[in-house]
Amino acid sequence: MSDGTDRASTTDTGEIPEWRKRAGPVAVLTGAGISTSSGIPDFRGPQGVWTKNPIAELTANYVDYLRDPELRVRSWIARRDNPAWQAEPNEGHAALVELERHRSVRVLTQNIDRLHHKAGSTPRKVLELHGNMFEAVCTQPAWRCGWTGTMREVLDRVAAGEPDPPCERCGGILKAATVMFGQNLDEEVLGLAGAIARGTAVFLAVGSSLRVQPAAGLCELAVMHGADLVIVNNEPTPYDDLATEVVRKPISEALPRIVAELAAVKTG
Ligand SMILES: [Zn+2]
Repeated sequence: MSDGTDRASTTDTGEIPEWRKRAGPVAVLTGAGISTSSGIPDFRGPQGVWTKNPIAELTANYVDYLRDPELRVRSWIARRDNPAWQAEPNEGHAALVELERHRSVRVLTQNIDRLHHKAGSTPRKVLELHGNMFEAVCTQPAWRCGWTGTMREVLDRVAAGEPDPPCERCGGILKAATVMFGQNLDEEVLGLAGAIARGTAVFLAVGSSLRVQPAAGLCELAVMHGADLVIVNNEPTPYDDLATEVVRKPISEALPRIVAELAAVKTG
């Protein structure tokens, strides 16, 4: 494979770090950083949506969303204009699809853009911690309504002249199937994410600032249960000290290399 002369993310001595030879399951946590080169801006980075436009963060607050019709109108427009509709997966997403061919892999993503699915990751192996933007839900509790549908059909109603379309079943407020600020994560998703973190040999955290739960806690959980934590991120994170290795290179460059080395490990 590689002749070793241009292996950018090896240690100073040129040796492959021990964790890259480690067999066992691999869990990959992905954050906004893996999607920025697909044209989807992140939220908290220097060029982040919230850094540049505080109103965007407001649209993500659940309590405000429920009580402010004007905010909902703006939110539907923001959903319509979300760059994720046109975005294509990049080398980072493709690398994780490749890794599935060689190792037991679970992807835990903070992203709502579905680019892992679009790249070809097996849907049941991708856990969407914050939901996704291509489905819509009624905000009434499941026992009262439980309507779910596609974002496309709701946006069609917006385009047809309903600026804030109510639930067709119960008249309630609709939203994207994402986890907004002020909302709890799905218990089942959270439980499964915890089990994956506890059972993994290698925990790769890619493109996440690791400042939002449960992402942050999952790193700690994985390390407590014996995993090697490897962080691939442009900016420092609060968990860098806990990591076996921190890689500061662009994800689309670093991840294919890491995957090639993990894929070469004899797992038999
Ligand atoms: Zn409803």
